[in-house]
Amino acid sequence: MGFWDSDNRRRVRVHERTVVVQAGSADAQSAKMETRELADRVDKLTMVCHAMWTLIQEKTSLTEEDLFTRVADLDLRDGNLDGKMTKAIYTCTQCGRNVAARHAACLYCGTPKAAESAFDPL
Ligand SMILES: [Zn+2]
Repeated sequence: MGFWDSDNRRRVRVHERTVVVQAGSADAQSAKMETRELADRVDKLTMVCHAMWTLIQEKTSLTEEDLFTRVADLDLRDGNLDGKMTKAIYTCTQCGRNVAARHAACLYCGTPKAAESAFDPL
């Protein structure tokens, strides 16, 4: 194996690593853009919720305290006052076993997860 062979192999390795780094950089850039888009959507939804709430306050006698109480009530529906509505587990309506909420159907019997509310994720 001559000097030029090993030099060419080194160049190929450097090129391959450069391609991998560029692909990783593109993935990171794409994730950054998706995160920015999600943040923009959350901002818009927050603004719409705020607009609806101020309209409700103008048209009714509901107060900020009423809103805080309702938020806490909803938060506690899953048993945890953690600022999240998502249940970590649900109980299968068919076999009664507990299944992680991220599954759309029971892992034991295959019964689709029954929505308890129109706001439950599908
Ligand atoms: Zn089941």
